[in-house]
Amino acid sequence: MKLIRYMVFSVCCIMVSMFFVAASYAELPKVVIVTTGGTIAEKTDPKTGGAVPAVSGKDLVEAVPGLGKVADIEVVNLCNIDSSQMTPEIWAKLSRTVDEHLADPEVKGVVVTHGTDTMAEGAYFLELTLKSDKPVAFVGAMRDASDVSPDGPANILNAVTQVCSEEAKDWRVTVTLNEYINSARNVVKTNSTNVQTFDSGEKGYLGYIAMGKVVRYNDAPPKQKFPLPDELPDTVFLSTFAGDDGSFVRFAADNGAKGIVIDAVGAGNVNAEVYEAIKYAMAKGIAVVITTRVYHSGVWPMYGDQGGGETLERDGAILGNDLTGAKARLLLMLAIAKEKGDTSKIKEYFKR
Ligand code: ASP
Repeated sequence: MKLIRYMVFSVCCIMVSMFFVAASYAELPKVVIVTTGGTIAEKTDPKTGGAVPAVSGKDLVEAVPGLGKVADIEVVNLCNIDSSQMTPEIWAKLSRTVDEHLADPEVKGVVVTHGTDTMAEGAYFLELTLKSDKPVAFVGAMRDASDVSPDGPANILNAVTQVCSEEAKDWRVTVTLNEYINSARNVVKTNSTNVQTFDSGEKGYLGYIAMGKVVRYNDAPPKQKFPLPDELPDTVFLSTFAGDDGSFVRFAADNGAKGIVIDAVGAGNVNAEVYEAIKYAMAKGIAVVITTRVYHSGVWPMYGDQGGGETLERDGAILGNDLTGAKARLLLMLAIAKEKGDTSKIKEYFKR
């Protein structure tokens, strides 16, 4: 009889503890982590000494202490590549995958692990193409898992905490590393080795995160959304330089480019030869956007000489505002697809 009483008691204890475990999980928000590769998922190859893709999404998440107390995590492995190998087509696939998971009402937000080299552009591509406005945080690492102090685990924990927070609910797509939260539109990678590499210059961070708390500084920039086309139009990004004879612009115009972005100098000026090449491209119906290598303030219609920003705008080139050239290329690509190449409509998307 005593044995039966003891067995019934222990079964009840087990059921009660299972209830509390289930209840605690039930309270945790659901977050999907979509992994794509990058240093965060790399280890040092002992033969070559170089960082190579070596960590699975599951191992990545299991290496983050305390993550299970913040959210109920699902891991989706999209790919495992260094982000120097990323393409707009892979970002389109990533955008569709993220939207699929955000469409689940149970999912609070998505964290994307991605290499830092092209993270700013990849985050911006999703900012422009996701149907959902739920929070998405891009996260990566500047030090791989073999390093003496990898930064990936803390970055993942912070990104998951961020997408679960009330403060983040209208930030849409962000880049979150080293406790700083940047908007996808304004963020730039500014340091090739330091963990404090992403910032948004004069426009400032969206917020900060420490000790599991999100601090809000700013609202996200105005929203721009584009349908994902079946095929992304061929859009190239060129720089210019002293003595440039414009041959690269002409080559792009003669080899299928539907859009050309040119990273100019100063407030958006090019030399006379490049100016002639730009007119040659526009005469073929190619949309040309002018950005600048200068970090702050962007492009202005200031100079009226051959190749000056005011001359270029007057002749039909689109001034790229304060977007980096790499991001202007993605915006131009999506705008060409949406407006079927109509530059009078396309230019509206670049206005300040
Ligand atoms: N080369 C790496 C990448 O972009 C750098 C990093 O992840 O930090 O994938």
